[in-house]
Amino acid sequence: MKRITCKFGGTSLADAACIREVLAIIRANPDRRFVVASAPGKRTPEDKKITDLLYAWHSIARQGLDASEPRRIIETRFTELARELGVKFDIDHHLREIALVAGAYEAPDFMASRGEYLNGRLIAEVLGAEFVDPAECIKFKASGELDPATYELLGARLHGGLFVVPGFYGAMPDGSIKTFSRGGSDVTGSIVARASKSDLYENWTDVSGFRMADPRIVPDAKRIEEITYKELRELAYMGATVLHDEAIFPVHAAGIPINIRNTKDPEAPGTMIVAARVSHTPVCGIAGHGGFTMINIEKTLMNKEKGFGVRVLSVFDEFGLNWEHLPTGIDTMSVIVRDAELNGKGEAVLEAIQKRVDPDEIKMVPGLAMVATVGQGMNHHVGVAARLTGALAAAGVNIRVIDQGSSEMNIIIGVEESDLKAAIQAIYRTFDS
Ligand code: ASP
Repeated sequence: MKRITCKFGGTSLADAACIREVLAIIRANPDRRFVVASAPGKRTPEDKKITDLLYAWHSIARQGLDASEPRRIIETRFTELARELGVKFDIDHHLREIALVAGAYEAPDFMASRGEYLNGRLIAEVLGAEFVDPAECIKFKASGELDPATYELLGARLHGGLFVVPGFYGAMPDGSIKTFSRGGSDVTGSIVARASKSDLYENWTDVSGFRMADPRIVPDAKRIEEITYKELRELAYMGATVLHDEAIFPVHAAGIPINIRNTKDPEAPGTMIVAARVSHTPVCGIAGHGGFTMINIEKTLMNKEKGFGVRVLSVFDEFGLNWEHLPTGIDTMSVIVRDAELNGKGEAVLEAIQKRVDPDEIKMVPGLAMVATVGQGMNHHVGVAARLTGALAAAGVNIRVIDQGSSEMNIIIGVEESDLKAAIQAIYRTFDS
């Protein structure tokens, strides 16, 4: 018998009809024994997420104001869910307990975690499964990192039977609740998969896996059948979102594949995230976004000046700025930074670099979009870069900067923000077969 951890996202658990579909999926395969649940999400675009209501409740309570409105909406949602699913669930009792401490902690983590806690309890009740509270077995170190002791603690709880573990939270060494960042139930799913020694981590969401490009830019973008953890990491970093970007690490370390599946289309195979791909198509995905600035520095004989690069980067360090890319030439060096990171400090950074390395020229080029073309097969294929640049030339897109990482797993290009869509479309059309 295999072991499968299956995590269901908030939209898959938004109402009783969705939860019934989820129950059917769980019951369809007895290997699905470790269920990780998010809090109920939006039923319609105008609806409220339970987690957002809990954050609101916390903030209102902290200000000493009356939080009866978010509480009432949460109560109604869970009461309806329990009634429609035909289980007894004393939501009033739970909410009274939560209300007692609603404004007690400065951090919102405890309150935010209650959506997953309540939903986990409800789903365990419906499934007749054992409820496992992550407060008891998903542990963080004082630094906020996951304590590796978690795997043994949690693993010891997950023997025999069917289990429901709420997503999104664990406990600090002093027992207080700490959540992952938003969307963090994906991380819990990965931790549960590893702790339970699952053969597969199914991540059930509302899309049938990853697409080769953002469908808002390429509406007919193909589904990615298989992608490696590393490729996904590159794409996610450049803005492709489906899975929380920290969710890969626990399963990657244990070699457990992740299967992204769609609760609305349970027969669809989705996307498999694996250690090594069988298919060797050179490009598996393209992602990109705007909002970058490039700082160009020029100095004759820069290449002979020892420590030049370190001195430039020390300025970023002093300003507490993360930089993203570092294309260099013989006498030129560029530093690419996200605008959100630079946050109006651009001129001050230029001045500091000017003082530090006395360049012949230094200028700031805003309005840049970065596009990553990702594929582990690239290093086996001659001419990928040529095809890519050719496609961009044919589409009339000017490449401002190009950067191929030494992993030969991606080619990153910088284009004018206004060319972003055209660039992604042109690259996609070149590599979609
Ligand atoms: N409910 C949490 C959120 O809205 C965590 C999750 O759904 O994964 O971010």
